[in-house]
Amino acid sequence: MTVKVRFAPSPTGRIHAGNVRAALVNWLFAKKNQGKFVLRIDDTDLERSTKENEALIETDLTWLGLTWDERYNQSLRFDLYQKAADYLKEIGRLYPAYETAEELVRRRKVQLSRDLPPVYDRAALNLTDEERTALEAEGRKPHWRFKLDGKRVAWEDLVRGHCEVDTTSMSDPVLIREDGAFLYTLPSVVDDLDMAISHVIRGEDHVANTGTQLEIFEALSPMFADADLPTFAHMPLLVGADGEGLSKRLGSMSISQMREDGIEPLAITSHLAKIGTSDPLEAAPSLDSLAELQDFDKMGRAPARYDFDDLMRLNAQILQGTPYADIKPRLEAAGADLGELFWDTVRMNLHKFAEVTDWAAIVSGDITPRVDDKAFALKALELLPAEYDRDSWKAWTEAIKTETGAKGKALFMPLRQALTGLDHGPDMGALSFLIGRDRIAQRLGA
Ligand code: GLU
Repeated sequence: MTVKVRFAPSPTGRIHAGNVRAALVNWLFAKKNQGKFVLRIDDTDLERSTKENEALIETDLTWLGLTWDERYNQSLRFDLYQKAADYLKEIGRLYPAYETAEELVRRRKVQLSRDLPPVYDRAALNLTDEERTALEAEGRKPHWRFKLDGKRVAWEDLVRGHCEVDTTSMSDPVLIREDGAFLYTLPSVVDDLDMAISHVIRGEDHVANTGTQLEIFEALSPMFADADLPTFAHMPLLVGADGEGLSKRLGSMSISQMREDGIEPLAITSHLAKIGTSDPLEAAPSLDSLAELQDFDKMGRAPARYDFDDLMRLNAQILQGTPYADIKPRLEAAGADLGELFWDTVRMNLHKFAEVTDWAAIVSGDITPRVDDKAFALKALELLPAEYDRDSWKAWTEAIKTETGAKGKALFMPLRQALTGLDHGPDMGALSFLIGRDRIAQRLGA
């Protein structure tokens, strides 16, 4: 079987971690199975979809490395949806209904007060031709409902195992609104069939949809040369570190925001690929290596914990593991390419790449040194070797120790503070060499 999957975002806003996880898992699954990854812009909602959001989705996916093999806009495929709707009408599975929203609310209330399930009562199915004509003469426009079979729909879910949805407990879904607009359900099924999507991988918030969609798939399959129905995988949703629903802050954190904040794309993808699975939460060297690991058997039923601290830990891991040759272009672009020794010295201290410019300033720019004990600093200055090379730190600090009696933190902290202005940082042997004798002298004398 040829694997073909799709990521189907609605361009009604920016994409966030939850959407990207769906995109990523689809992409990894396609990669692992030599399949195709389709980007399908679900822009049937013409009022809320924007081209700007669509462009941002593409920018975000591209930045994350999630490139696509095929790309579609649902808004350009209305003819096909209309054909499918006509076919469903022909076989008696799509029927017009005329109730207003208020009427439906009222009926639901009555049903609930009688302890009946608030399911659409299919009154529209009993309308005679005359009644329909009369309603239309009143100016009412129909919306169109799919007639469910009212049976148990079952599928083998790659994550959830055997699943069943009882469609008798569901209202016949509205596929087309009064104004003729196609709602999400029909275009989604039509496209999955038309594009020969082999696997539908999405969040478990779609499980109930799958019940109704499977009936629509079955009804429409003959229109598509009896196309096979896709296999489904419904992933548990993301929750925040506290186990509660993804907090506002994280839920609304768009990928563009993370990009601006200097988070590495591979940190985001490593994190999202591994949370909620049995794999250890570690940074991966590449998307391909993440694809190797992809396996729905590793995905549990419990929600995946999205902890921003974990993401930042992976971010640091990635920077720390990046060799100079790979990072050189970025260092150049940031005006912080001070050579391999510089990168190897500072990378262990980076949480975000942008911090590299702070270290570059410490090595080759102006900083405010911190000198609390002037006498100590002047003594250190006095003992500073005339030539300062890669090994001078050891000899220099030995000499200061002998002369002042200071040792341990009392010896090293004032030197670090004077030379870098900070209390912490990389190994001072290499860093002081990079800073160089002139700057050291200047900072001690400050
Ligand atoms: N546009 C839908 C969404 O973003 C697609 C869901 C699906 O994968 O079928 O929720």
